[in-house]
Amino acid sequence: MANRIPQAFIDNVRSKVNIVDVIGQYTQLVKKGRQWTGSCPFHDDRHPSLFVEENKQVFNCFSCGRSGSVFSFIMEKEGYSYPEAILSLAESVDIPIDSSISANNGNQIDGTTQAIYQLHTDAQRLYQHTLLNTISGEQALAYLHDKRQLSDEIIKEFGIGFVPDDNLLLSYAKEKNLSHEILMASELFITNTVSGDMRDRFSGRIVWPIKTERGQVVGFSGRSLDAENSIKYMNSPESPFFTKGRILYNLDRAKNVIRQTGTAMIFEGFMDVISAHMADEKVGVATMGTALTPDHVRQLSRIAKRILLVYDSDEAGQNAARRSIELFKNNAKDIEIGVVHLPDLLDPDEVRIQRGLQVLKKSLNQSVLTPIEFLVNAARNGKNLSNQAQYLTFLHEVMQILYTATPVEQDIQLTRIANEFGTSKQALQAQLQQTKQSVKVQNSHQSVSQSSHVASDFSPKVPEYEFGFPVEPNRYQKISKVELAERALIMAMIKDPYTLERVKSTAGFAFVHPEYQLLMMLTEIYQRDHLGTFDIAQFMDFIQKPNLNQKIMAIDHSFGDIKVENDAVQDYLRIIMEEAPVSNRVQELKQLIEIAKQQHDDAKLVQLSTELINIKKRQH
Ligand SMILES: [Zn+2]
Repeated sequence: MANRIPQAFIDNVRSKVNIVDVIGQYTQLVKKGRQWTGSCPFHDDRHPSLFVEENKQVFNCFSCGRSGSVFSFIMEKEGYSYPEAILSLAESVDIPIDSSISANNGNQIDGTTQAIYQLHTDAQRLYQHTLLNTISGEQALAYLHDKRQLSDEIIKEFGIGFVPDDNLLLSYAKEKNLSHEILMASELFITNTVSGDMRDRFSGRIVWPIKTERGQVVGFSGRSLDAENSIKYMNSPESPFFTKGRILYNLDRAKNVIRQTGTAMIFEGFMDVISAHMADEKVGVATMGTALTPDHVRQLSRIAKRILLVYDSDEAGQNAARRSIELFKNNAKDIEIGVVHLPDLLDPDEVRIQRGLQVLKKSLNQSVLTPIEFLVNAARNGKNLSNQAQYLTFLHEVMQILYTATPVEQDIQLTRIANEFGTSKQALQAQLQQTKQSVKVQNSHQSVSQSSHVASDFSPKVPEYEFGFPVEPNRYQKISKVELAERALIMAMIKDPYTLERVKSTAGFAFVHPEYQLLMMLTEIYQRDHLGTFDIAQFMDFIQKPNLNQKIMAIDHSFGDIKVENDAVQDYLRIIMEEAPVSNRVQELKQLIEIAKQQHDDAKLVQLSTELINIKKRQH
């Protein structure tokens, strides 16, 4: 509930964002009457269970019970906090984010960072203009056309540019009166240590902009045109806004396709990503000169179900693939991994230029190994397997790989080795068995706490069950008369502060179902700040209890048009209060059951539970 973003800002975002557009990026929505329906993007959903109400700007899934506003959707889907969801949606509809808002919400987007972001955006524009439209860009453009076989269309799509030698960006920044502090912090310039003069960092280089997941340019990768230059490629240095351990090249453009297809491809270089894109594989991302990190894995596992690793065939590339497999196994074990094997030790960019787009497309789709296949193949590398000692080392490594594999994969690999090297399959199976046992012994000697802190970051989110009440299972559930009265009363209180006061002052009144008691408390707080027409999406965002959203929607659905009348309110109160004594006993029983559990008093526990079950039977 507590948020420091001004309500007016939130309401502005709410009014400019359409929930149908936002959810439509995650699943295909079809209009049916006044609602939109589609498959729920939170789980396998063959019969569309997701309903989106455009007029109320809310969604509801009848299968999993998730429901709420556009902010709830983004929070759950992207793992954002409430303020993060607001800011991300604000950005998506180009609402300027005041520095006081972002600073208050933990995003370090202060004035300086804003200026640095803007400078990067402007730099990218200036560099691209130089490449495509000026004489100083001609040589670079010819290189990109001829040697790299990139069309103007691709150059524009990926924002590629050229940095001339005349300090174009520095002049531009000075014209804009940007402070020395901002120029230094932007890392777009280098200062001569002797003279103290500044110059454009990427002078004489072709530059590829690097963007955040949200599409903000935060750095460049530059390739020197000068063959003599000892530093062929150069990236922007690490800085508070350019963190290589977090950034994935092209994720901003690829993420929607990744969501739609479920698959992401990880490449080693940004040119590989562009090559794959040209071969119509638009789900590629690349790390920027670092190994994959748990943060990268987290970003990808939120949107992909399957990851293809497309690494170079050299030793460094193969080691990187091995580390990445391990990383996914430890941090996102439900993700399916494939390792793409490219022909003749070529990288994807080389395959495109030397063999053509068709060959590249085919390799990316068809030459996919399982991690086990890949690891067993990799164990062969650098070994002369006709040498007995090296063959035994190879077998030892294979067993280390295979002992965690599925029985079928074990069988496939052992059969393959038996056929190729003439070792009997029984012997291989016996060795695998031995490996399993020795690993078991080793593990029992090791501390249990090993690396458990890594896993906790990725454990699935447990929904809130504040009073032990699960989400309503489905729309066909029969609602009791008492609960209908409770719902009507809640809506009456939402609409009319006087009714709320009246309920509060009714002696001995309590809701039968505790979640309505909670809703009443929250409604009271809500009313202090929100007078006027009731907006259900706004109400749910205020409540910030995902497990109550479906109840709130049900209340709105049945009683949204209710006219508050004294007699009716009196009726609701009476119906609920007739049940209340039972409810009190239920609460009491629950507490007694807890105590009996703690005291391990089984006889008592059985007696109390039976009473509770009988009361609940009578209620329905
Ligand atoms: Zn669902």
